Amino acid sequence: MNLTMKVLIGMGLGVVIGLLFNLTGLNTPESFVNVYLVDGLFFIVGKMFVNALKMLVVPLVFFSLICGVCGIGNLNTLGRVGIKSFALYMMTTAIAIAAAIGIAASAGIGKGIDRASDAIFSASEAPALSEVIINIIPSNPIDAMANGAMLPVIFFSILVGISMLMVGHKARSFIEGAEIANEIMMKMVTIVMAVAPYAVFALIARAVADLGLDLLGQLAGYVAVLAGALMLHLFVTLMAVLKVFSGLSPTMFMRKMRNAQVFAFSTSSSNATIPVTLRTVTARMGADNSVASFTVPFGATINMDGTAIMQGVATVFIANVYGVEIGTTGYLTVILMSVLASIGTAGVPGVGLIMLSMVFAQVGLPVEGIGLILGVDRLMDMIRTAVNVSGDAAVTAIVAKSEGKLDLEVYKDSQAGVLDD
Ligand code: ASP
Repeated sequence: MNLTMKVLIGMGLGVVIGLLFNLTGLNTPESFVNVYLVDGLFFIVGKMFVNALKMLVVPLVFFSLICGVCGIGNLNTLGRVGIKSFALYMMTTAIAIAAAIGIAASAGIGKGIDRASDAIFSASEAPALSEVIINIIPSNPIDAMANGAMLPVIFFSILVGISMLMVGHKARSFIEGAEIANEIMMKMVTIVMAVAPYAVFALIARAVADLGLDLLGQLAGYVAVLAGALMLHLFVTLMAVLKVFSGLSPTMFMRKMRNAQVFAFSTSSSNATIPVTLRTVTARMGADNSVASFTVPFGATINMDGTAIMQGVATVFIANVYGVEIGTTGYLTVILMSVLASIGTAGVPGVGLIMLSMVFAQVGLPVEGIGLILGVDRLMDMIRTAVNVSGDAAVTAIVAKSEGKLDLEVYKDSQAGVLDD
C-alpha cells in the first residue's frame, strides 16, 4: 500500500473518530476523551508533526533555491520565471475572488440572518504593503530565517546562488555542497512524510471533534456557497488554466496532488506544506528544481486563491447580514485589496481572517461582523489551504513546462515518486 493510500485512510478514520466524539457528546471539556485524547494525544502528535514539517521549510528552501539558481545559470531565465509565476499567481487569485463574489451575490447569502454573535473578533494588525516590499530585503538573514519569513529568505537564497555563480570555479565545492544538502533535506521530507498517516489521523480527528456542528447548520448558506466556490475554482478554473497554458493533463495533476492537498488540509498551512508541495511537483510531476525551488515557496507566500475566495464570499455575506450596499466600486476594491493582501501575508493558519479585516476596513464593513463566521473558519481554513497549495503547484507545472523544465515522462507516469512506506 502506498503512502497516499495510508494518508487517506488516516484522514478517513480521523473523520469517523472525530465525528463519533463530537456527535456522542464524549468530547466535553472535562471528559477523559477530551483531556487524554483530543487535547492530549491527538494534540501532541499533531503539533509534533506540524513542527517537524516547519523544521524543514527554511533549510529546504535555502538549499533548494541555491541549487535552483545555480541550475538555471542565467539571470534572464530567472527573471522570466519570476515574472511568469508572479503574473499567473495574481491572475488566478483575481479570477478566484471575482468568481466568488459573483456566486455569493447571486446566491444572496446572508439575507435575513440575525447579526447578533457572541463570538468576539478583534483584528490583529496586518503589515502595510510598503513594509512588506521593504522587508523583502532582510536586514538580518538569520533573523528572517529564524522567523520563517519567506520573501526575505527567498531573496537572500537567490542572492547567495547568484553570487556563487559569479565567483565561478572557486565556489564549485560550495555548489556541490548545496546540492548534497538539498538531497539530504529532501530525504528528511520523506522521513517526516512516513509518519503522516498517524499524524493526519490525529490532526483531523481533533479538528472534527472540536467542530461546532450546530454552527455549521446555522451558517449552512455561507459554508455551502464557500465550499462550492472553492471546489469550482479547484476543479474547473485551475484545471482549465493548467490545460490552456500548458496542455498538461488535469486528471494526472489531481491524482498527484492528493498527498499535498491532504497535508495542506490537515495543517491549514501552505507554509508548513512547502516541503510536501516541493516534493510533489519535482519527484511526482517532473518539474525541475530550478523552477520549483522558487515558485513553490513564492506561491506559498503570495498566492492564496482559496483565501481570496473566502474573502469574496465573506464580504457578500456580511454586507447582506448588515444590509450594507457595497456597489461595483466597492467590490472592485475588495478584489484589489484581497490580491494585494495575499502578497504581504504568509501562508499560516487563520491568516485569511486578518486579511479579511483589512478588506472590511477598506470598504466600510463592520470588522466585528467577522465574529459571525469565526466559528466555522477552522474548517473553511482547511479547505481553502488545500486550494491555495493546488494553485501553487499548478502554476509551478505551467511555468516549468513553458521553460522546457518539466519532464513529461515523469508527469505521465502515475507511479513516479510514489512513496511506498
Ligand atoms: N491557512 C491559509 C494558508 O496557509 C491562509 C488562510 O487562508 O488563512 O494558505
